[in-house]
Amino acid sequence: MSFWEFTVDASYFVAAVLFIIGLKRMGSPKTAKSGIKWAGIGMVLATVVTLWHPMMDAGFFRYVLILLAIGIGGAGAWYTGKKVEMTGMPQMVALYNGMGGGAAAAIALIEMYSGRAFDHGTTVLILAVLGALIGGVSFSGSLIAWAKLEGKMSKTIRLPAQQMINGGAALVIVLLGLWILTSTGSAPVLVTIFFLLCLVFGVLLTNPIGGADMPVVISMYNAFTGLAVAFEGFVLGNAAMIIAGTVVGAAGTLLTLLMANGMNRSISNVLFAGFGVDDGAEADGPEGEMKSVEAFDAAASFAYSDSLIIVPGYGLAVAQAQHKLWEFVQMLEKEHDVDVKFAIHPVAGRMPGHMNVLLAEAGVPYDKIFDLEEINAEFPNADAALVIGANDVVNPAARTDESSPIYGMPILDVDKAREVYVVKRGKGTGFSGVQNALFFGDNTRMVFGDAKQVCTDLANGLKQL
Ligand code: NAP
Repeated sequence: MSFWEFTVDASYFVAAVLFIIGLKRMGSPKTAKSGIKWAGIGMVLATVVTLWHPMMDAGFFRYVLILLAIGIGGAGAWYTGKKVEMTGMPQMVALYNGMGGGAAAAIALIEMYSGRAFDHGTTVLILAVLGALIGGVSFSGSLIAWAKLEGKMSKTIRLPAQQMINGGAALVIVLLGLWILTSTGSAPVLVTIFFLLCLVFGVLLTNPIGGADMPVVISMYNAFTGLAVAFEGFVLGNAAMIIAGTVVGAAGTLLTLLMANGMNRSISNVLFAGFGVDDGAEADGPEGEMKSVEAFDAAASFAYSDSLIIVPGYGLAVAQAQHKLWEFVQMLEKEHDVDVKFAIHPVAGRMPGHMNVLLAEAGVPYDKIFDLEEINAEFPNADAALVIGANDVVNPAARTDESSPIYGMPILDVDKAREVYVVKRGKGTGFSGVQNALFFGDNTRMVFGDAKQVCTDLANGLKQL
């Protein structure tokens, strides 16, 4: 092994260690920011060192192309990363993830077109074919997921006999893959048809899935991309790609399972049930009268309570009401001696950790934030509960109504608090499209309005007391 080869391999090893340290630190809100930096340093190291790889032999023109690509990609990522809202994060993850899958598939294609994948034995060829398949599906599927979440694709198209068509496409892809594996040398036409069909399969698989399940699908494609990158790492003999891909694959798989568990759904139910498909139908469910009150009355009630549990949801994020809410809570604690806690459902918002990040951003201390298992037993003893922009995660139908699409989903037992106040703009349903019995409860009062405005009014209400 030459000195350069040793230096490159050692640097890849260091980069891989940095990825793992980074991921570990991302596990807690306290260390998450530094975790991103550690992993970022690892990625810079892996990228820079690759330019010196003895096998690169790229020539001046190719180096210019590589640096141009890094410049354009880096600038685009920097700009969009700075600009993106927290609510737009799933779309951005979908887009970048799709690029990763596409890049892995492109490596596989180049290795197959050039014939190198065929020269290096069956294992390498199998991994190249699998990388092209998984990376291609992840690329086109992620783009559809992005388009749906970004509102660029409003319709969810379910073809008649959708599962049969998907099954047929999968079968043809497997047969073409086997054909490539038994070819003796580069087979560009066959490889091209195989790859195009993989792209079509990604579209077929993602298209019928309702917008409601898109975050789970994005996370699943994230795991796919990791796997494709790891496979291509084997093809290229690149340790950093193998380790980074495996880490992403494992993290993506765990996240997908966590989201599915949080909704009490299986992955196959997410992929094939068409849950949350917007068919334009009116939501069925409990009927009755929602009792509405002004923010001032709610503020007065909280001020005279001993304990309050706040449940934030997606609406809080859309309204960016976290800072105003925290101002109000500080007044309640300091001036009225109320014990305030925040209850976070695992799938509140649009991605795991969404609410924790928002509250941390506003300066809410971590010891005031509780997970579902930690806090659910406290609702029956709480004087009041305040639900802000949350809906499905507090819907008691999940506990009681076997016919409800969200039956079985663990929920925060807000309805068990002595008094419940719900802040939302109107009578609309949440993400799942299911009406919420909580809003009609005897002990529930609705405070209609935009979450940020209502939080401002709540604080003003306290000042008037
Ligand atoms: P939700 O069920 O989508 O409800 C959000 C509520 O916020 C809506 O009812 C809406 O009512 C209200 N709202 C919207 N904008 C508002 C504003 N500006 N001010 C005040 N209220 C506003 O949200 P959730 O309770 O957080 O539940 C999350 C849902 O996402 C679950 O169904 C979950 O399964 C799904 N999901 C989450 C993840 C994840 O990882 N977090 C992943 C996949 C799916 P109005 O329109 O009347 O205002």
